[in-house]
Amino acid sequence: MDTSLAIRERLDSIAVKGKQKKQIKCDTDSIAGCVSQRACVYCGARVVLNPVTDAIHLVHGPIGCASYTWDIRGSLSSGSELYRNSFSTDLHEEDVIFGGEKKLARAIDDLVGKYKPRLVFVYATCIVGVIGDDLEAVCKAAAQKHNIEVIPVESSGFIGNKAAGYRAACDALFRLINSGETEKKKNDPKINYLGDFNLAAEAWIIKNYLYEMGIEVNVTFTGDSDYMALKKAPEASLNIVQCAGSMHYLARKMKDRFGIPFMNVSFLGIEDTSDSLRKIAAFFNNDEITRRAEALIDKEIRRIEPLIRGYRKKLQGKKAAVYVGGGFKAISLIKQFKELGIDVVMVGTQTGRREEYEVIHDLVNEGTVVLDDANPSELERFMLEKGAHLLVGGVKERPLAYKLGLAFIDHNHDRKHPLSGFVGAVNFAEEVYSTVCSPVWRFIG
Ligand code: SF4
Repeated sequence: MDTSLAIRERLDSIAVKGKQKKQIKCDTDSIAGCVSQRACVYCGARVVLNPVTDAIHLVHGPIGCASYTWDIRGSLSSGSELYRNSFSTDLHEEDVIFGGEKKLARAIDDLVGKYKPRLVFVYATCIVGVIGDDLEAVCKAAAQKHNIEVIPVESSGFIGNKAAGYRAACDALFRLINSGETEKKKNDPKINYLGDFNLAAEAWIIKNYLYEMGIEVNVTFTGDSDYMALKKAPEASLNIVQCAGSMHYLARKMKDRFGIPFMNVSFLGIEDTSDSLRKIAAFFNNDEITRRAEALIDKEIRRIEPLIRGYRKKLQGKKAAVYVGGGFKAISLIKQFKELGIDVVMVGTQTGRREEYEVIHDLVNEGTVVLDDANPSELERFMLEKGAHLLVGGVKERPLAYKLGLAFIDHNHDRKHPLSGFVGAVNFAEEVYSTVCSPVWRFIG
């Protein structure tokens, strides 16, 4: 691969699988001057917290930051719909000069008066970090005044990268659950499911699988969660972590504080879904749970394998590029594409961790480009150079693919169909087929 055109400081973040193994540079701040595909710290925090359904999500900052709403995330609720509102203190020039604390206190008073929530998250944005509003003090005073929980989320956009936002959200969640009482029965088949935001009902699909195995999901962090359910989080005997990038930090804190062990899982693709269900069953060391898990896996694989086989035949020889938020998703996608007979020729993430890049390196074929925190020009260049037919990404990558005349799959949080579990594996295969084999590409010269 000719990397001569890449910005020099970016070269350590790009590797090509070959004879010499290169440790990719990752989990660092983006290079100034690069138009990174990453979202900001505040957006990272919002990804994690916004699915808490009965909370007020109040963005302390200018109105633009609040444009990041439920509408571009799409997590579903079985109860309250309060989280679908986006509230902002709408800071103006005057507030920047004289401070926004009074305006924030008034906004909390108004919202509590109108919606009577038990929980308010107050997100810090860039400008709040710059002017130095004391969020902690305002939230503490509001909590005492209204006798509810008002939790500051320290997510000023400039304090790091998107991963810092994940940690800020986890700190806020930990603060919430750390004040509850624990009543845990040893080895009770009750788990917390971390890192699923119930996009297109995905958390419900996995919850049903676990129910079929005889395991109760105590609470999901944070898809379809609410104040009361989150408070009971310490009662679980196991934390399973899907989106490790966002939730590993919280899982570690819960292990240290409540002694809850955790394991990484993934419910993307047949292989990872089956392995994860088996791992969970093995943890409980219970013959009945194991038997039920095997019966479920067997039933589902029998049902979907002929469908996957049909798509696999049609997709032979196609090449895919992957650029997603976290490492766990990239790893599962590589395996999923293998199930479909597709070679992944470029793979990257916004917030992948070193150990995840090690796994990615081992999974891909020689010549595959692996890159962390990419910019559009790198994505374009490597997709063309490697002859990709398809890009899997999020909302920011979609126009890039279409401009290049490539098929695209949205694996982001605004999609409306589930890609998790066995049902998701079929949806994914169907979507890959319909976009890659669409007749529209014939008309692009
Ligand atoms: S927090 Fe900062 S970087 Fe993030 S959207 Fe607001 S102004 Fe932009």
